[in-house]
Amino acid sequence: MDDDTRGYLDEVMEYLGLKRTSPGPDDGVVNEEDDDECVGGGPGNRVVVPLDDETVDSLPILPLSIVRSPEGEYKGRLLVSHGGIVYDVTEFADNHPGGKDLLMTSVGLDLGHFFDNYTVHGNTDKAATWLAGMAIGRLTEEDAIIARNGTDSVMHVERRHFWLSKARRRVVFVAATLPMWMTVRSCVRFVGWLVPSLGRMLARLVPVVVPGLSQGAEPLLVNDYNTDGEGSGMISDENVPTVAIIGGGIAGCGTAVAATIGISGDSLRGTCRDFRQRARSIGTSEMDGPSRAAARKVPGAVGTLWAADPTPYDGSLRNVLKKDFEIYEKVVRFSDKVCNLFTFRWAPWRRNDTPSMYDAHTNLGLLNPLNVVPLYSLYKLMGGSELWWQVVFTPHYTASFLVDELRPFPAVFGPLIEAQIPLLPNEENTRSFASSRSDKDCNITTCQTWKDAGKGIREVFRMLTEDIDLRENTRILNVEVLPNGKKRIRDEYDNVMDVDRVVFACPANAVGNIHKRAGWLANTIFSTLVYADDHHPDSGHMHAVIHSDGSVIDERYRDDCLKRASNIVEITEKSDGTINIENQYNFGVQTPGPGVYDLPLDEKPVMLISHALGEGKSINEKLVVGTANHARAHPLYSGWNVMAMLSLRLVQGRDGIYYCSNWTTPGNCHDMSFLSGLVCAHAIGAKYPFEGDREAKKDFHRLRDLMGI
Ligand SMILES: Cc1cc2nc3c(=O)[nH]c(=O)nc-3n(C[C@H](O)[C@H](O)[C@H](O)COP(=O)(O)OP(=O)(O)OC[C@H]3O[C@@H](n4cnc5c(N)ncnc54)[C@H](O)[C@@H]3O)c2cc1C
Repeated sequence: MDDDTRGYLDEVMEYLGLKRTSPGPDDGVVNEEDDDECVGGGPGNRVVVPLDDETVDSLPILPLSIVRSPEGEYKGRLLVSHGGIVYDVTEFADNHPGGKDLLMTSVGLDLGHFFDNYTVHGNTDKAATWLAGMAIGRLTEEDAIIARNGTDSVMHVERRHFWLSKARRRVVFVAATLPMWMTVRSCVRFVGWLVPSLGRMLARLVPVVVPGLSQGAEPLLVNDYNTDGEGSGMISDENVPTVAIIGGGIAGCGTAVAATIGISGDSLRGTCRDFRQRARSIGTSEMDGPSRAAARKVPGAVGTLWAADPTPYDGSLRNVLKKDFEIYEKVVRFSDKVCNLFTFRWAPWRRNDTPSMYDAHTNLGLLNPLNVVPLYSLYKLMGGSELWWQVVFTPHYTASFLVDELRPFPAVFGPLIEAQIPLLPNEENTRSFASSRSDKDCNITTCQTWKDAGKGIREVFRMLTEDIDLRENTRILNVEVLPNGKKRIRDEYDNVMDVDRVVFACPANAVGNIHKRAGWLANTIFSTLVYADDHHPDSGHMHAVIHSDGSVIDERYRDDCLKRASNIVEITEKSDGTINIENQYNFGVQTPGPGVYDLPLDEKPVMLISHALGEGKSINEKLVVGTANHARAHPLYSGWNVMAMLSLRLVQGRDGIYYCSNWTTPGNCHDMSFLSGLVCAHAIGAKYPFEGDREAKKDFHRLRDLMGI
């Protein structure tokens, strides 16, 4: 790989917020090659627990059976093993950054497998250092091997679904009572509008939060604070309202920017974390036209599909699986009609409205059964084949959602994804241009994205977080509501801060551990959320390799794909009969890197991000620049998550605590997360910062409706 290409790839890595795992001469990081004796650690850095030989020798030998089902003095303890050492994680479970539910999936098991798949544990030495303090024994060498070999992803998924199903039973009850609570909230709000004091009193009597009236759910009014008590109108440091934002992804940035612009100029303070790492999130990329190629080699479905081209050319899967494409089209049309009915899109005043992800879950749309009926079930009901679902639908959208399990997607999503990333391209959903392939083919080869992305994004990020008291790499351990209504935030370094409002902008399970007294309702919601890795923690779409080895693409399609496909997906049947979905992100075409953006297509270097390489394929190691892991990055757009998301309104604002982030919106993406941050900031009292943009504001209000605040 030449220096320029490596430089470009490094830029892409940085843009994506990814770590290099092939260490440079001075990196000094421990990785797989460095330490063959470590167990676990996966494609990222290994978790090496700093225990010296003397300490290890002093630990008592414990039988594996004690770890698996603790008894005697260990009865009731939560034990795990890693590299032959036994750890007691009972107390730590409540502080596990990923949430207790996730840690519970590993109890009694060896952690090596989890560290392989949740490589975040190896990114810093935190996990290893915490573990060191929890060592209570060691296994015999034989037991250590049995423990490691006896833990795999299937077990993890089974256990995870055990915990999820417990939460789901509860969330069904919550969701079923949602219409009643929504009516109650509306009545109390109406009373509050007529007689505010009576509204506030009633709001205290109902078990759910009433926006604007329940304690803490009132907006912060700057004027309340904009005085030093002497009537001078000066802001003093003590009485300025403070908002803590926990989680510094794009959602946290959304809250930060609106809060600082809208409430009190430069005097609002917040705590944010990890901004630099996640700054990439700000660069919402807009595809100018989807160009995606797929070469399929599965029995019964041999052919290719150029997804941007509606023409059933020779060898196209549109011919091979014609009937299924027709069924899918009918399903999408049916879903579109039903959704339009519930969302009034037939009404004259809505005819020109652009489709919205939020519509389906607001107002009468809430009553639409297709919110919870999966698209897959409709497709199957109408006679669609499993083969088409596996080799056409799943691979096409896996490339967008990085999840191999798309069966839970609700049917309302069908028309929406067709409008954005069509499998059935037409004049409306694609910009069609002639190409040598066909006169309807989409010949667009680049994305519109932040030019000079690296620098541009960092600049945008800097602006979004201006005037914020930024605490990077700081884990918040605890949020406690004080008798005076303030929230006390404690971080891992024992720093304490009292604030007026808290906005959680981090993954759902983590919230549960930080906000320990969130209550039954909130905890039910946090525990229900299902993420892509809950289905396949070890499959290829959780792990990525960034490289410039174009030979991974079938020679027959290589040139065409490298020039103009945003993704290349190859589906093959594995020797065990299962189907593998290999996905290459073509960053040569999509690239956001400075310099690369302006290069003519035929001069762009090969830049690929590979997931799930097919059997027998490999990437030239010399052309690899790093790896990535997407665990906890993608909450699924499923009926369960929709139920949790809609129920969240019942606790939004309780005691002045709000929740935004991708799991509070349908599906997940940069712009929705960002908007959820703005919605929370608005609920706190900030102004919407893009007043002049009518379409954007429409979306803002739609998401407000959906979030119920
Ligand atoms: C590879 C990949 C490609 C993607 N491509 C696209 C795309 O093309 N278009 C698109 O729209 N979306 C895309 N997405 C999805 C999008 O990136 C996410 O939906 C979005 O970034 C989520 O932002 P968020 O702020 O809600 O959450 P996150 O970015 O997950 O932020 C949560 C933050 O909370 C922090 N946190 C967790 N626990 C604590 C704690 N205890 N204390 C303090 N902080 C804590 C975390 O460190 C993190 O910074 C992609 C995602 C991935 C992984």
